[in-house]
Amino acid sequence: MALIVQKYGGTSVGTVEKIKNVAKRVARTKEQGNDVVVVVSAMSGETNRLLGLAHQISELPNERELDVVAATGEQVTIGLLAIALTEMGCKAKSICGFQIPVLTDAAYVKARIRQIRGETITQALKDGFVAVVAGFQGIDETGSITTLGRGGSDTSAVAVAAALKADVCEIYTDVDGVYTTDPNICADARKLDKISFEEMLELASLGAKVLQIRSVEFGMKYGVRIHVRSSFNDNPGTIVTTEEEIMETAVVSGVAYSKSEAKITVVKVPDRPGIAAKIFKPLSEANIVVDVIVQNVSVTGFTDLTFTIGRTDYKKAMRITEKAAKDVGAERVVGDDKIAKVSIVGMAMRSHSGVALKVFETLAAEGINILGISTSEIKISVLIEEKYTELAVRVLHGSFGLGNPA
Ligand code: ASP
Ligand code: MG
Repeated sequence: MALIVQKYGGTSVGTVEKIKNVAKRVARTKEQGNDVVVVVSAMSGETNRLLGLAHQISELPNERELDVVAATGEQVTIGLLAIALTEMGCKAKSICGFQIPVLTDAAYVKARIRQIRGETITQALKDGFVAVVAGFQGIDETGSITTLGRGGSDTSAVAVAAALKADVCEIYTDVDGVYTTDPNICADARKLDKISFEEMLELASLGAKVLQIRSVEFGMKYGVRIHVRSSFNDNPGTIVTTEEEIMETAVVSGVAYSKSEAKITVVKVPDRPGIAAKIFKPLSEANIVVDVIVQNVSVTGFTDLTFTIGRTDYKKAMRITEKAAKDVGAERVVGDDKIAKVSIVGMAMRSHSGVALKVFETLAAEGINILGISTSEIKISVLIEEKYTELAVRVLHGSFGLGNPA
């Protein structure tokens, strides 16, 4: 007998029919002799609808109250799923975040989990119930309701699995698993059987939207095996686990991309200590996340400094940077909000040379200009013009042999 945590996302519980279908799968897992905890999201589109209502009333709604509204979506689905299970003769009990409780900090709208006490859930399991737990919800130390940020139910599920020391956390979604790249771009994209936490973190943060990043961080910290799989069939999906458990790793595991990037260049910055700090401080104070940073080695006493930010922050970042540039005596600021970032990720890159060269040659052969490069131990990212995104993903996927054999 195993203790299994299953998480079903919004698209898997989007209608009453789909909720009944989930109930069948849950009941089957229980009948096989397992203890089952189910974590669910709100019905698809529901969180957006709820947030939309608040925004119809106020441009900047109070975030504490926003969480009170947004958290209700998950309460509906746990109730409905528990009813569906009971109707099938499977004992089930719904449990809200505050009833567990999932203790978080007070950062409304994006709260972080501090602690989960397992007793309420453990007791329900002991009494023979399937525990149906609301994802996304938490409670802070003053008793206010919080939410864990968009996509937060993934993190709820992995955190509950960690707290209960579950054997596995199955994340059911509308895709079959984690792919070598976006199958909409490469028809021959291949489902990965296994991927390490480290690689998944890179892929998740690079825009492969299968798992909320924090859930992967949680899994890595507490060693929770995560199985990403489809709720519409019984195919095995992708196991996200420790590097040790993955025997042989490919040099490159996947190609990710993000189109929501923008870049800003400060031209002819005096090359003195403290200048970069002066430019990035006001950006950080405005909560703008800076990603890739490229600075040239100066020969003339001046240098150019380029960095990327999210496209939605572009206008604000331009305004802030223009002011900072004036303050440090730079010549001017230029920007471009039509750029993309394409990245290749792989654990074995650490011990293989020539990977970067292959990326550059592959892109050069297509005449794609590289606007910036950043690397980590297991990742190489290049900035390119947005219009070349699909082409770049396709040729890189091909040249690293990631596709299914034809
Ligand atoms: N319902 C929340 C959202 O839409 C949480 C989740 O689905 O994971 O972001
Ligand atoms: Mg999700």
